[in-house]
Amino acid sequence: TKFNDFNLSPKIAEAVASEGYETPTPIQAQAIPIGLSGRDLLGIAQTGTGKTAAFALPILNRLAEEPYKLTPKAPRVLVLAPTRELATQIAESFRTYGRKLRLNIETVFGGVKDGPQKRRLAAGVDILVATPGRLLDLIDQRALSLHEVQVLVLDEADQMLDLGFIHALRKIVPMVPKTRQTLFFSATMPKQISELAGKYLTNPAKVEV
Ligand code: AMP
Repeated sequence: TKFNDFNLSPKIAEAVASEGYETPTPIQAQAIPIGLSGRDLLGIAQTGTGKTAAFALPILNRLAEEPYKLTPKAPRVLVLAPTRELATQIAESFRTYGRKLRLNIETVFGGVKDGPQKRRLAAGVDILVATPGRLLDLIDQRALSLHEVQVLVLDEADQMLDLGFIHALRKIVPMVPKTRQTLFFSATMPKQISELAGKYLTNPAKVEV
């Protein structure tokens, strides 16, 4: 498989090429066509496998078709991650692959003042990368709403559970419209994770690397 085989929007394909990526990694080769098709995905993959691009490229491709629609406080894509470090890295990857598109990509996480985060949400965000606790806090404050979310990503779901975010996830996910596409990644698949995946995914394709 080559990146060209995916028929990505030229602006995204150019950004990927200028990163020096020549061949998709195994998770990318399997997951990108599924992501582009709109189908739900259950991905079992560790960090370092290229899983970020595996979900970011199909998402950017979808937004490339309507890049200028910004609704205050209502992101079109929500990515949930367990830690601020991972959230920051994911947002950086979206910015890298999406740099030729005009998209607002923001992060929210705990441990810092929420004022700047609230101002950026009010200005309009296309892709929001968030840790669950701060996200819920901002929703409670009416600083954002999930009613416009078209694609939901849960990254490192097992880590989110280990860090005690299950309660937050159970509140957050039902706020996202059911018509969404859901991309669910975990390095491991214990019973609690497969139950969560079963609840949040609709007829998912399963990819394991
Ligand atoms: P991730 O597993 O998403 O954290 O990605 C691990 C690293 O692999 C990151 O530094 C990416 O920039 C890099 N990477 C992702 N996809 C490719 C690819 N197809 N070819 C070369 N490097 C890649």
